[in-house]
Amino acid sequence: MSRVLIIGCGGVASVAIAKCCQNSQVFTDLMIASRTREKCEAVKAQWENKTTTRISTAQVDADQTEEVIALIREFQPDAVLNVALPYQDLTIMEACLATGVDYIDTANYEPENTEDPEWREIYEARCKKEGFSAYFDYSWQWNYQKRFQEAGVTALLGSGFDPGVTSVFSAYALKHYFDTIHTIDILDCNGGDHGYPFATNFNPEINLREVSAPGSYWEDGRWIEVEAMSIKREYDFPQVGKKDMYLLHHEEIESLAKNIPGVKRIRFFMTFGQSYLTHMKCLENVGMLSTTPISFEGKEIVPIQFLKALLPDPASLGPRTVGKTNIGCIFTGVKEGKEKTIYIYNVCDHQECYQEVGSQAISYTTGVPAMIGTMMVVSGLWKKPGVWNVEEFDPDPYMEALNRWGLPWVVEENPQMVE
Ligand code: NDP
Repeated sequence: MSRVLIIGCGGVASVAIAKCCQNSQVFTDLMIASRTREKCEAVKAQWENKTTTRISTAQVDADQTEEVIALIREFQPDAVLNVALPYQDLTIMEACLATGVDYIDTANYEPENTEDPEWREIYEARCKKEGFSAYFDYSWQWNYQKRFQEAGVTALLGSGFDPGVTSVFSAYALKHYFDTIHTIDILDCNGGDHGYPFATNFNPEINLREVSAPGSYWEDGRWIEVEAMSIKREYDFPQVGKKDMYLLHHEEIESLAKNIPGVKRIRFFMTFGQSYLTHMKCLENVGMLSTTPISFEGKEIVPIQFLKALLPDPASLGPRTVGKTNIGCIFTGVKEGKEKTIYIYNVCDHQECYQEVGSQAISYTTGVPAMIGTMMVVSGLWKKPGVWNVEEFDPDPYMEALNRWGLPWVVEENPQMVE
């Protein structure tokens, strides 16, 4: 029995809410709070007659810590699931600290305004020290470790698919298959087709910021940064087929490098079609991916936010997306002196997700683990004061829950390797 406050009501949230409603023995009371209350009401109306979970809604601006604190005091949740945007991570964490309530999210902090001089100073020092230049990194949230420990509050970071499930796969591989893991290749393949020349599968602003940034990987204790999309490989994905994939910087590399002892190399690859890449390059060349505000006819606008308003809402892609995703990790390492290689992955069908919860597989593969991470915390299995990444807990109950709640996984020995 638990009360959970869910902040944000977009593509990922709507799946997390559907899954909490299916799991009503654990989630007895939900409050859905977001910037636009009508969206919360619409999701409530979709599920309330199909579940015993009691659902209420509220409007909140989660950029304002005081507003989140007031809402927490009113609803008295056991935990807050943050499925708004990474911009809100720190304000919501502050509110959880102030009220002594556990915190779960799916993406690490990044600032909305990357020109903010105070943020930029810290960012530039970090780029120099660490050697990667993505706008997002874990340092901001890891800095809360002591305060969460002292307050006796748990923060579980990154319980989506990647980060999230891929990180739990890593902990599981280490626990059951290896004495030491040497390399991890995380492969994120979306073999789905939505029929639009260009659309993003989750929040366009966050997605385009991520994929247009320089790529980087971890090797021999340091970051190696490369030009965006400059490392390309082809891979034959089980149940999807051959796809081109590109090396990206991705946030779980940072936490896995810290939490998987002895790992020598971690890379992340994502598949993209040629149409997506051509559109993205063109939009980038004309300045539409810029996060710096410009003045337009007397009004200040941020180009990438204006672009978001023009692109299809990821939540609307569900009915038209066909095909499958395949996301997983290839591990190499040693067990009892012998070299071995395994591939752990999940395959998810866009249309099956849509039939079940009304969303495509990208929202599904993130929303299901968001529910599972929250369940791990509220059930007490993963409750430990401090700020933690998912791979720092026992992976077994999470892996069991993935099978039960719609993301079954496969372990394959001696898979095709990535060069
Ligand atoms: P959407 O844009 O669909 O939804 C975001 C929601 O947050 C919207 O409902 C939005 O409100 C709300 N929101 C934005 N700002 C505020 C605010 N200041 N106060 C309150 N609510 C606010 O995004 P997605 O559902 O696609 O993504 C949600 C999160 O999941 C993101 O952090 C994303 O990075 C993460 N993600 C993680 C993945 C993983 O595998 N780990 C994969 C995919 C996504 P409004 O409707 O008014 O705009």
